[in-house]
Parts: sequence; structure tokens; C-alpha cells
Amino acid sequence: MSEVEKKPCAIAPFECQHDVDDWPGSPQLTSGHLAVSNRSWRTQWPQIDLSPCNKCNLCLLYCPDAAIVKNADGFPQIDGDWCKGCGICAVECPKQCVRMIDEEQRIAR
Ligand code: SF4
Ligand code: SF4
Repeated sequence: MSEVEKKPCAIAPFECQHDVDDWPGSPQLTSGHLAVSNRSWRTQWPQIDLSPCNKCNLCLLYCPDAAIVKNADGFPQIDGDWCKGCGICAVECPKQCVRMIDEEQRIAR
């Protein structure tokens, strides 16, 4: 099998640890920090109930900010810095695992 040419990650317009073969994943600077966190202005948070989750990965694929990664068990895990609270993952999840809640409500817990 011929070696596939690796292209830079197209997700983030800055230096990124990921290439296209690593996607999906959270765009990060090589320092390990995100260039701009969405945490400060997000008003909604995707609360996930993993009990009905079938690990289909649709939430990872549809997240426009690649803010969802898989944990060691293959379940989705949301990056609190990168998620902007758009709610697309809640709409696309076929198992209704994701419920959008107020960010203030999450912080108060
Ligand atoms: S709310 Fe939007 S940005 Fe946050 S994890 Fe879901 S799809 Fe991604
Ligand atoms: S879309 Fe829903 S069922 Fe699929 S991995 Fe994400 S949370 Fe689990």
C-alpha cells in the first residue's frame, strides 16, 4: 500500500497537532493549548447521558468545532474549552443522549 501524503489539519487556521488522519479531534496548538477558548461566551452546554449511547460517533462527526473526542472506552467526551454550545450534537444524536442546558446551570453544579 502506498503511503498517503499527509496534509495539514484544515479545521484550525493555526498550528495544530492533528492531521487529517487524526480527525476528529480537538484542534490544539503544539503547546497543548487551544488558540481561542469558547468557554467564556458559551451560553449552552451539551449534557450527555451515556447510558443509551451506542458509540455511533455521529456527534463527533457533526460537531462543527471538533469539540467531541472519544474517551478510553470509545464514548464521546466534550472538550469544555472548544465547545461553543451550538446544540448540533443534540439534534443529530439518534439516541437522544444529548440535552442542552444553560451554561450557568452547569457551572452552578
Ligand atoms: S454543542 Fe456544538 S460545539 Fe458543543 S459539542 Fe455539541 S456540536 Fe460541538
Ligand atoms: S451521536 Fe449519540 S449515540 Fe452516537 S456516539 Fe454521540 S452520544 Fe453516542
